[in-house]
Amino acid sequence: NSDKKKLGWAIVGLGKFATEEIMPNFKDCQHSRLVALVSGSPDKAQKLAQQYGLQEKNIYSYQNFDSIKDNPEVDVVYIILPNSLHAEYTIRAAQAGKHVLCEKPMATSVHDCQKMIDACQKAGKQLMIAYRCQYEPFNLNAIERIRKGELGKLRFITSDHGRRVKPTEDKADTWRVQKKLAGGGSLMDIGIYSLNAARYFAGEEPVEVTAQIASDPNDPRFKEVEDNVAFTLRFPSGVLAACTSSYSYETVKRGRVFGDKGWLDLDPLSDYDKHTMKIGKPDGKEEPQLKEGNQFAAEIDHLSECILQNKTPRTPGEEGLRDVRYIMAIYESARKGKAIKV
Ligand code: NDP
Repeated sequence: NSDKKKLGWAIVGLGKFATEEIMPNFKDCQHSRLVALVSGSPDKAQKLAQQYGLQEKNIYSYQNFDSIKDNPEVDVVYIILPNSLHAEYTIRAAQAGKHVLCEKPMATSVHDCQKMIDACQKAGKQLMIAYRCQYEPFNLNAIERIRKGELGKLRFITSDHGRRVKPTEDKADTWRVQKKLAGGGSLMDIGIYSLNAARYFAGEEPVEVTAQIASDPNDPRFKEVEDNVAFTLRFPSGVLAACTSSYSYETVKRGRVFGDKGWLDLDPLSDYDKHTMKIGKPDGKEEPQLKEGNQFAAEIDHLSECILQNKTPRTPGEEGLRDVRYIMAIYESARKGKAIKV
């Protein structure tokens, strides 16, 4: 049975993203298989276990989750909970002797990120943050072109992420407007894609950030978390990035990189599929026809392969911590109305 060679995965939190995007894509994994579920909703867990052919004994609640340490079928735990719960469950998973894949944003404070890294290190387990775009073919191809110098010397990067949040209609948005569970608003949730893309396009770490935040004080969605964020990152080479995030307009998920020999657009940059790339050069525009890939399966398998080969993943806990640190500097800059060195 080839399944025996695959690492066993448990999903913690059976919400929209877990059930609609992650669980169905294990079918395309070569080194990973879904074996266990952790949920606060026993009926939903039961139904999904049946649908995916999982054993009843492999369904856990948040209360008995720690007993997963006695289940040798589970190698990796994938945390897909509201943001402020990522730290607790990552630490509990590590203490149960399991490797961890944790959704973005890694946590809602730098302190929590550090505790997660420490717990996994102490347990001798891998920790990876689920930056799926870094496993997505269009983004990887863009990075390769940039590094090869196809755009010449990089000058400028822009990235925008926005969507309309609907907390009264969509359960997945209810916790997103609550500071205690979400940690912040559009920046934590989707602005992190603009931030992360700016960093992987630049291929270096920013030294300074500036930011402005504006939210309609009469909109009940923005009583606790921010709506519109405009931020800039200054990189040591002189590259500037201008990024935005918003919770109040129709979906935008794009990134642009400008070099002195050409520009490259990904629009969308961070969708689940249907990516497009456009490149502009002095002699005209081109649209390379790349093949869509299963970024979810690639991401999950990457961690399994790293575990099997004892290698550090492309997006380890340290990568998640960096973004949370920059996010905190962006909030600080907006609050103080001045540039913040990072
Ligand atoms: P959902 O609200 O749909 O799912 C969260 C699940 O967490 C719930 O269904 C519930 O599962 C469990 N949960 C436990 N405690 C709570 C609580 N107090 N309030 C609400 N839910 C709770 O959210 P999403 O699936 O959209 O997001 C989950 C995580 O995934 C977030 O960190 C988000 O940033 C990330 N995400 C990542 C995406 C990506 O593309 N990488 C896309 C979308 C989300 P149960 O009933 O089983 O206990």
